[in-house]
Amino acid sequence: MPKRNLKDQKLAVETFLAQAGSDWDERTGAVAVPIYQTATFGHPQLGKSTGFDYSRSSNPTRLVLEETLARLEGGVRGFAFASGLAAIDTVFRLFSPGDSVIVTEDLYGGTHRLFEKVIAPHGIKVIPVDTSDIHAVRAAVNPSVKGLFVESLTNPMLRVADLPALGALAKAQGWTFIVDNTFLTPLFLKPFDFGADITVYSATKYLGGHNDVLAGAVMVKDHALAEKLAFLQNAVGAVLGPHDAWLVLRGLKTLSLRLHRQEQNALRVAAWLVKNPRVKAVHYPGLSAHPGHARLVAIGKGFGGIISFEVADGVSVEDVLSRVRVFIFAESLGGVESLITYPSVQTHADIDPAQRLKLGISDRLFRLSIGIEDADDLIADLQQALEQA
Ligand SMILES: *Cc1c(COP(=O)(O)O)cnc(C)c1O
Repeated sequence: MPKRNLKDQKLAVETFLAQAGSDWDERTGAVAVPIYQTATFGHPQLGKSTGFDYSRSSNPTRLVLEETLARLEGGVRGFAFASGLAAIDTVFRLFSPGDSVIVTEDLYGGTHRLFEKVIAPHGIKVIPVDTSDIHAVRAAVNPSVKGLFVESLTNPMLRVADLPALGALAKAQGWTFIVDNTFLTPLFLKPFDFGADITVYSATKYLGGHNDVLAGAVMVKDHALAEKLAFLQNAVGAVLGPHDAWLVLRGLKTLSLRLHRQEQNALRVAAWLVKNPRVKAVHYPGLSAHPGHARLVAIGKGFGGIISFEVADGVSVEDVLSRVRVFIFAESLGGVESLITYPSVQTHADIDPAQRLKLGISDRLFRLSIGIEDADDLIADLQQALEQA
């Protein structure tokens, strides 16, 4: 069969994602990239390699995923890890004891735990700041700061980071600027356009998209960082296995379809929640009243599918969680199934209670990850659960 090569073609994102990997196996023409379930690779002769030696260093299935991710992000190289936290941990090995890193204050709970309990004890100081406020970030500047780690859209309050201002500050200070863009994906926001050097993802969420695989991704903007990350990925070894790489790649093929449907559904659910008397507050950046709405319209291409809302006094939190029938009471987000999460005891349990309240994470707050179901079914489900709670 004639050689097809997607790499040399200028293609829209939907096109190259749908066909990701279909040009890999010239010998058989396999449309789905094969799962190279092998630990090691034979060498043709001394000093010669097929390009693959040992799967910690590189594996063909993982490589196709990594190349697809890099292209999606507009970076020079992508790296796939065993989980989002494994990806972040590996990136933080770019820093040395004595360095400080300014980080978003309302981080994903697991990232907060990694920073406070694992990375800080090794001598890297993390400085939590409200990164949606550039003045607060400027106030934290000191000579030991070497990096800035920001969630582009925070969890669960959905604050929008001021990426243009943060990127300019990071550049002026010579910091390594890292953006966790899990909630928006490169389809809805491109951190490299605003000065980010590295993006990180929990690919467990939207990139994989089916609640069936744990994975992490790191993309880098320049070749010097790509070399450092390639070294660290191999040296630390928290890599994604071939089968899991294949699952993420398959998920990626429908990323655009899924994300747009999830956003459409989220806009409908959020608008309905706003009008519900049993709901006190709704946080969704697609609502014009949301504090980050205008900023996200200016820098991004979409609002995503995560909503958080606070129920009114007198509504029983336990009842809401036990009465939902379509929404699944579970942690995680970004999959095709709609989930309801209770952040104060699930995702954010590791954050000190006083700090939690300061961030707006009360014990009346729920987070919804909107899936691809019918929006009317989702609304009817919330209606019956709230009415009886
Ligand atoms: C889930 C999540 C992570 C951690 O990813 P895992 O794949 O669960 O290790 C990191 N950042 C954000 C924003 C997340 O939502």
